[in-house]
Amino acid sequence: MTKHYDTIIIGAGHNGLVAAAYLAKQGKKVLVLERRAIVGGSVVTESFGDGFAVDSVFTGGSLRPDIVKDLKLPLPEVKEKPAFISLQPDGNHIALDAESIKRISEKDAARFPEFVRFMDKAASILDTAYATIMPRLPMNFGIKEGYGLLELGLELKLAGRKDMLNFIRALPMTAQELVEEYFESEIVKAAICAVAIHGSTLGPMGAGTGYTLIHNWMNRGGLAHKNVGKAGEITTALANAVKAFGGEIRTEAEVASIKIESQIAKGVILANGEEISANQIFSSADPKHTLLKLVGAQDLPPEFVWHTQSIKMRGSVAKIHLQTNGNHGIPAGTAVLAPSIKYLEKAYDATKYGEISEKPYLEVTTSGNTVSIHFQFAPYNLKHGNWNVEREKVENLAINTLAEFFPNLKSSIVNRKSITPLDLEETYGLTEGDINHGQLMLDQFLFMRPIPGWSNHKTPIDNLYLCGSGVHGGGGVSGAAGRNAAKALK
Ligand SMILES: Cc1cc2nc3c(=O)[nH]c(=O)nc-3n(C[C@H](O)[C@H](O)[C@H](O)COP(=O)(O)OP(=O)(O)OC[C@H]3O[C@@H](n4cnc5c(N)ncnc54)[C@H](O)[C@@H]3O)c2cc1C
Repeated sequence: MTKHYDTIIIGAGHNGLVAAAYLAKQGKKVLVLERRAIVGGSVVTESFGDGFAVDSVFTGGSLRPDIVKDLKLPLPEVKEKPAFISLQPDGNHIALDAESIKRISEKDAARFPEFVRFMDKAASILDTAYATIMPRLPMNFGIKEGYGLLELGLELKLAGRKDMLNFIRALPMTAQELVEEYFESEIVKAAICAVAIHGSTLGPMGAGTGYTLIHNWMNRGGLAHKNVGKAGEITTALANAVKAFGGEIRTEAEVASIKIESQIAKGVILANGEEISANQIFSSADPKHTLLKLVGAQDLPPEFVWHTQSIKMRGSVAKIHLQTNGNHGIPAGTAVLAPSIKYLEKAYDATKYGEISEKPYLEVTTSGNTVSIHFQFAPYNLKHGNWNVEREKVENLAINTLAEFFPNLKSSIVNRKSITPLDLEETYGLTEGDINHGQLMLDQFLFMRPIPGWSNHKTPIDNLYLCGSGVHGGGGVSGAAGRNAAKALK
């Protein structure tokens, strides 16, 4: 006899765990199934050997404070304000704060506080939008969804006419256009543009990177990553909350398919053949994986299949972690190799041709003796070679490029671990290595995420809901997608 639950949640990333915790808190009998041996998904701290523990994929950030409060998570509010540093060839690296910017431009230093104020306001508006369940446009929508939109409209109105207009205007702009409205120094402009392209397969001259700048600003709470080295604490706290509310979590439990009868989800079949039934299935795996692999095109309307196949997943991020003896010389905070906007755009250009950037955009963080390098661009789909061969190339490119700024780096390295876009897919379950389960682009935004007409977490299969980063509210680690999905069920 198969076991039966109210809700099965596929995937124990932070969104799956947030949804599970809210549903378990409501008294539902919940089971979370995770294919890996550890929970956390991309928000994970894992060990790669003796003393080499690292936030392997996601760099740093925090959950929405209201989720922390609702679920009584023992996570302190992150108040730290780490430095955000533009690396300079002469070693005089520049932190982006009004005081240090004075070294390169008095005018930019004077404008910096107003830029930060606007970005904080824009991030707050976006955060509210993410916390609102989107109606299924172009379908009709009911009072519940209309009420959410009303709240969002109110937030926009309260933002004040000028900020509201500038927020809406900023979304489709290029990051370059946005920063040029504030700053004159190439160093300042390029460093801010680096934040806009983090995780996106776009250059700073691409339309819509105004939106990704606001998105990443919102998730970080500014320019620099916070809480580096502590990603695992977030998902451990969430997993403990799920269990404390009575939910169950099983690791090494890969879902091979979702059992469907007459267009209704009835349960799941694990890779080992075990069947588990439930009244509802939530999937925090990405929409392509969930709908095309775990459900299958045969059970879905053709137009829906076409839209799902068309979701843009364009992973182009690799990570290189270095265990060092501590003498690497890299300053604490988030350091970016972004000397100019053209440099970043050229780094992106390589992906158009399926090539790895020879002059990459690097974002570097340190935690203890460990140095973590976020490398862009390293396209999932390579024109030549494959990721088993190209891994070493990316490792060497990252180390050699960074060593030009920090001469002691190479001699300080005692161990290394790289994660290619193919590893992101095979190990972390991210289709095409796309870190946000689908690119953050304006045609995959709001009521168009994951696909037009299906933005309220539902699917054409009754009782099957989506709750991961690929739906509205994601990506990033706010937990909004997971909580919105749990709310949509009520
Ligand atoms: C390299 C990298 C850098 C990033 N940088 C940032 C950043 O700086 N700022 C930011 O805000 N965000 C960043 N992100 C994005 C952010 O980490 C993700 O958007 C977010 O963590 C996704 O959470 P999730 O719970 O929706 O999905 P995931 O964390 O992907 O979790 C999904 C889970 O489902 C499991 N799963 C998949 N298929 C199955 C199956 N068939 N059966 C059982 N389990 C399954 C997976 O193993 C995984 O544990 C980054 C991500 C990566 C990879």
